[in-house]
Amino acid sequence: MNRKILLVEDNESNRYLATFLLERAGFTVVHAPDGSAALALAATADPALILLDIQLPGMDGYAVARALRDLPALGAVPIIAVTSYAMTGDREKALEAGCNTYLEKPINPETFVAEVTRHLPGTEAKETP
Ligand code: MN
Repeated sequence: MNRKILLVEDNESNRYLATFLLERAGFTVVHAPDGSAALALAATADPALILLDIQLPGMDGYAVARALRDLPALGAVPIIAVTSYAMTGDREKALEAGCNTYLEKPINPETFVAEVTRHLPGTEAKETP
């Protein structure tokens, strides 16, 4: 099973925490600090899932999500938007841009890995309404 996660995050402490939690759970993490690096890596790294910060320098996460969805190889790869925005409209914007779901910052170390795992291919069946 592919356990490689593409983490698109410009903030060093968020990146450190997410990487620590994912690697501890047996995932491999590849990191992109901005949208253009994310698009380049997404096309070559074969990620099983993408964690996408919405507040990024340059292209914002919505634009990155739309561009990722335009890559034929990534059509079925889950994208989880991660943002500190708490407004309900941002969830809608993330979903409209092609993200599968939405996770709020700050990252909760108790639930983060479970949330990510829930959206990996092959585990969707466990999702409850
Ligand atoms: Mn950010």
